[in-house]
Amino acid sequence: MAISVPPGDSRRRIQPLDALASPRFTQVATFARLPHDRSLADVDAAFLGIPFDDAATYRSGARFGPSAIREQSRLLRPYNMSVDIYPFEVFNVVDYGDVNVVPGSFEATAEAVEQELDTLLAARVLPLVAGGDHSVALPMLRSLTKAHGRPVHLVHFDSHFDFWDSYWGQRYTHGTWLRRAWEEKLLGHVLQVGIRGPQFTKDDFQYAKENKFHVLPMRKLEHNPATLVARALDRIPTAEPLYLSWDIDVVDPAFAMGTGTPEVGGLTSREALHCLDTLVGHNLVGAEVVEVAPLYDGPGAITALLAANLLYEALSVMAKNRERGIPAFGS
Ligand code: MN
Ligand code: MN
Repeated sequence: MAISVPPGDSRRRIQPLDALASPRFTQVATFARLPHDRSLADVDAAFLGIPFDDAATYRSGARFGPSAIREQSRLLRPYNMSVDIYPFEVFNVVDYGDVNVVPGSFEATAEAVEQELDTLLAARVLPLVAGGDHSVALPMLRSLTKAHGRPVHLVHFDSHFDFWDSYWGQRYTHGTWLRRAWEEKLLGHVLQVGIRGPQFTKDDFQYAKENKFHVLPMRKLEHNPATLVARALDRIPTAEPLYLSWDIDVVDPAFAMGTGTPEVGGLTSREALHCLDTLVGHNLVGAEVVEVAPLYDGPGAITALLAANLLYEALSVMAKNRERGIPAFGS
């Protein structure tokens, strides 16, 4: 199974704990049982938790998302069959720990997130982020555009538009980050997938239309969503940086009830994974899975388990791209 290290390669080799030497239910929980390491030397990708949920507008609790995802990621195995890749052989991956968020302050938290991301990206480390509520996407995008020297394209899976102007006069919430990111000119193409549920007004679609966001509402995705997503992605130049922002509530609450703003009638967990596989070949420069709130999760922690697998899938896509010679940070 192991890919041998070429002679003369002095890079350290980072691996998850071997489940046959150390059973999966033992040891301290880190993402995929990788080492918790903050040195970044020879690191290609890093799991980062952002346990902040003070910008949620309905049920809070996503601050417990990263630890729940770590706990459920114990079962991830080395080979991804659908993408055909050993992600931990192609990449050195670590669990970088959590951002020290500032409870009660989006602004202070956003600064901390941006700083942490700046450090990762300066070391050319691909971020694999677990939220937190969706507001954390804004500092992520601020840092990514700086690092890549240009706006990044966005593929946004969510049951919600997240581009409202404000809630109770507050401009920075988990439902407004996309409008702020657009105003700050952080984004190229915007593809929104899975939008559904009751809206405030009939005009809610208008902002997407005015700004030429490509919207695939859930009603259009009832048959073969992965094919439709792949077709929509064709409009985004494959060489240019693309960021994946995945709100767990795009998945049906039957499969992902552990979230703050559930909307019925969503993707199945299987469809969700298939949609992610279509990103192979696109220059994915980072990924986040947000809005996992374990206090509302079902027995077996299935929402956190799905989130762990979605992050593994995103990591596998990035590893597959590296294998194909697509340089995430330019050559
Ligand atoms: Mn949502
Ligand atoms: Mn969202």
